[in-house]
Amino acid sequence: MSGDIVIPFNKPPYVGTELEYVRQSVEEVGKISGDGPFTKKCHAWLEERFDAQKVLLTTSGTAALEMAALLCDLQPGDEVILPSYTFSSTATAFVLVGAKLVFVDVRPDTMNLDEEKIEAAITDKTRVIVTVDYAGVACNMERICQIAHDHGLLVVEDAAQGVMSTYRDRALGTLADLGCYSFHETKNYSMGEGGALVINDARFNEQAEILREKGTNRSRFFRGQVDKYTWVSYGSSYLPSDMNAAYLWGQLQAADQINDDRLATWAFYHESFAPLAEAGKLELPFVPGDCVHNAHMYYVKCADLAERTALIAYAKERGVGMSFHYVPLHSSPAGLQFGVVRGGMDVTDRESDRLVRLPLYYGMTDDDRAAVVQVVRDFYAQAE
Ligand SMILES: *Cc1c(COP(=O)(O)O)cnc(C)c1O
Repeated sequence: MSGDIVIPFNKPPYVGTELEYVRQSVEEVGKISGDGPFTKKCHAWLEERFDAQKVLLTTSGTAALEMAALLCDLQPGDEVILPSYTFSSTATAFVLVGAKLVFVDVRPDTMNLDEEKIEAAITDKTRVIVTVDYAGVACNMERICQIAHDHGLLVVEDAAQGVMSTYRDRALGTLADLGCYSFHETKNYSMGEGGALVINDARFNEQAEILREKGTNRSRFFRGQVDKYTWVSYGSSYLPSDMNAAYLWGQLQAADQINDDRLATWAFYHESFAPLAEAGKLELPFVPGDCVHNAHMYYVKCADLAERTALIAYAKERGVGMSFHYVPLHSSPAGLQFGVVRGGMDVTDRESDRLVRLPLYYGMTDDDRAAVVQVVRDFYAQAE
C-alpha cells in the first residue's frame, strides 16, 4: 500500500452552501446573536421533519443534556440510571444537578443500555433513566419507556448520535420525555459546536425557554405574550449564535444527501467485511429490525485489546485513521466519585476493549472506502 494515502478518521461535514448562509446572517440580517432567523428555520425544520413537539437549538449536545437534567428537577440523593459506555457529557450533566449516577451494563450486540438489567437497579431514589443511542441505533425504547412508566420515572434520550435515525418509524430524540442532539463537528450534521433539546412533553416548554435565556421570560416577550421581560427563575445561556445556526441550516437542507452518502459508506464496509466476519475474524455492528440508523459510525470488534491496538497502529502506518471509543465511565476517576455500578459491568468492560471505529464522514470517495477495507483485509491476512 502506498504511503501517501491519508484518510482521516473524521472530516467535519461541509456541503458548500453553509458559508453563503453565514454571510447572509452577518451582512444581510445583521443579527448574529441567538434566536435569529436561521435558528428559527432550523427549529421549524427539525420539528417538522422529526414530528417533534418542540426543538430548541443549544450551544452543544452537552448543553442540551444539562437543560434536560435541570428540567428533571432532581433533589439531592436522587438516582439516575445510565450506561457507563457513553461520553462524559451524558453523566456530567446529571452530576451538575446533584444526582447520584447508577451505571448499568450494555447489550453486546448494540452497545446500548441493556433493558433487561434496568429494573434490578431501580430503588425508591431512582428518578430518571438516560438512554444513549449508540452509533445512531435506538435502544429498546418500548421496553425502557414501559419500565419508566411502571416506576414513575422520566426518560431522557441522549440522541447526540441519532439525528435522522428512526425507531419504529419515529425519529430518535422524540422517543422519551426529553431528547438531546449534538451538532458537533464529529456528528452527522454540524454547526461547529452546537446541539438541540427536543421537548416531547409540552409541560416542559416554558421552563426550558427560561433556562435557555438566563432565567428570563424573554422568549415570551419576543412573541408578544408579555410586555417586558424579567428574571423569573434560574437558568443559563444555552442558545447558540445565529451564525452557527446559519451553517447548520445549510446542512439540514442537504440532510438527505449527507445521510445517503454516509449510508453508502456504511453499506460498503458492511458488505466488504462480511467474509471476515463469517471467517470469525471480526464482529460487525448489529441493527435491530425495528431500527433505521443514520450511519453515524462504522465499527468492528477485534478479538481482544491487543489485536485492536495492533490494527489501529497498522492502519495508522498506512495513512488510515482508526479510533477506539469510550473508556467506560464507571471506572474513571469521576465515575468512581459520582457513581456506582449495579448489576455488573462485564459486557461494557469486555466489549469496549475490542471495538474500533473506521473512518466515516460525508464525501468519502470510492477509493477512500476501498483503501480502508484493504487495510483491514491486509491486517488480517498478514496476521495469519
Ligand atoms: C457527542 C456526544 C455528546 C456531546 O455532544 P457535544 O455537542 O460535543 O457537547 C453527548 N453524548 C453523546 C452520546 C455524544 O456522542
